[in-house]
Amino acid sequence: MKKYYLTTPLYYVNAQPHIGHAYTTVAADVLARFWRSSGRPVHLLTGTDEHGSKIEDAAAEAGLGVKEFADRNSAAFRELWSHLDIRYDDFIRTTEPRHESRVQECFARLIESGDAYKGRYRGYYCVSDETYWTETDAPPDEKGRRLCPNPECRKPLQQVEEESYFFRLSKFQEPLLRHYKENPGFLLPAQRANEILRFVEGGLQDTAISRTKVKWGIPVPGDPEHTIYVWFDALLNYVTAPQSGGAFTDCWPADVHIVGKEIYRFHAVTWPAMLLALGLPLPKSVFAHGWWTVEGQKMSKSRGNFVDPREVTREYGVDAFRYFLLREMPFGNDGDFSLDALRKRYNAELANDLGNLVSRVEQMVDSYLGGAMPGRDQDGAPSLAKEFAAKGPQLAARMEAFDFCGALGLIWECIGRLNTHINEKTPWKLVKTDPEATREVLFDLVRGLRIVAGWIEPFMPQTAAKMHAQLGVRQFPAPLSPEQVLAGETTGLGKIHKAPPLFPRK
Ligand SMILES: [Zn+2]
Repeated sequence: MKKYYLTTPLYYVNAQPHIGHAYTTVAADVLARFWRSSGRPVHLLTGTDEHGSKIEDAAAEAGLGVKEFADRNSAAFRELWSHLDIRYDDFIRTTEPRHESRVQECFARLIESGDAYKGRYRGYYCVSDETYWTETDAPPDEKGRRLCPNPECRKPLQQVEEESYFFRLSKFQEPLLRHYKENPGFLLPAQRANEILRFVEGGLQDTAISRTKVKWGIPVPGDPEHTIYVWFDALLNYVTAPQSGGAFTDCWPADVHIVGKEIYRFHAVTWPAMLLALGLPLPKSVFAHGWWTVEGQKMSKSRGNFVDPREVTREYGVDAFRYFLLREMPFGNDGDFSLDALRKRYNAELANDLGNLVSRVEQMVDSYLGGAMPGRDQDGAPSLAKEFAAKGPQLAARMEAFDFCGALGLIWECIGRLNTHINEKTPWKLVKTDPEATREVLFDLVRGLRIVAGWIEPFMPQTAAKMHAQLGVRQFPAPLSPEQVLAGETTGLGKIHKAPPLFPRK
């Protein structure tokens, strides 16, 4: 069965992971967990991009050998993913033989077909971005300098003239435009499609895909003076990784490549053109998410304001961090990361709406019913749990559309309904006059919470595990579906018990 195959970009190991990397990877993990828990086989690939002169320079600066430097920084990514409960199926490093040998094979195929050819490159190169620029891309400024056109960079460009292999990108202008037109779900979110269309309509130039001055790279097969351009090498990971794991036919084409908007063009133009040249089907979609500012300011090296995810999780826990990232800004937009906003959401939505609700319900079941699952399903009687179960398709539709924010909004509406229900039914009064009716109210609340526990698992796996344990239901191998909850499946874990608050107030 074809797996739902999703990828993060390969992270460049010139620096330590920060909130931007965490954002992409958490989003991918949430999607992967959601589809896994819906019974769909999933393959989530992430990894590190380790070639290029920027890595050579950074290693020299750190006083380490290049390989040693790449090992250390690649490990930092894996450690952070494990800290953030990211469950990936494969982690690829571009320095692994399984990747390098396949990249060389692809390169050789392109030379053979004529889609790669040797020429002479004259132009400009930004070492910082590992990006080639033409004269027209980077006209001289008033002081006669040519600066990197990337507004985030603006570093002086190197003039380069060297023998180089080129990829015949120009040939793919029409096929790409046709593909975009015939597959409106390819460029996502839709508001980003226009910039790509305009760019491709403006004409595509063949692009250099090898360098002679960079030693830290994959040698061009049969021409070892050249190494393969780092972007060309890295993009291929999406096919080399599943090929090497024997999972290629289960995975390809990818369902979605999730990337940051700064690398969208590589993924929306260069990459599909490379796939067309290699005769491989194109991924279903390429989704570009937005950027975080931090406390209202752009994140930059000079400001030194990159958010270290571990500092946030130390204070608020991993789940609150994951929740905030996906709740605070709609996926695809830009947003601001501020500790104040995080604390507000933590206290209002996690500690109060959810945590307090769970404590209250458990407390009442414990003291009124000795922790036993209360009540019984009265056929045909309206209940919140049944209402929630009917929202399953809506939730799935939001996840299908990468609308994490909307999915959480829907879950929190349900949490709000449970809170209102308690306040309206006042079980603490009701229990004095009508114990049977109290049981029914608590029964509905418990089942509603069991459904919520399953729904939040992709977003907050630790919290979901605690809720499942406290509410007397199993979570593994997958959380119970709303239908299983309604059917009363619990696998006999038994009593509902009080526990410390899920989210202590800050
Ligand atoms: Zn640059």
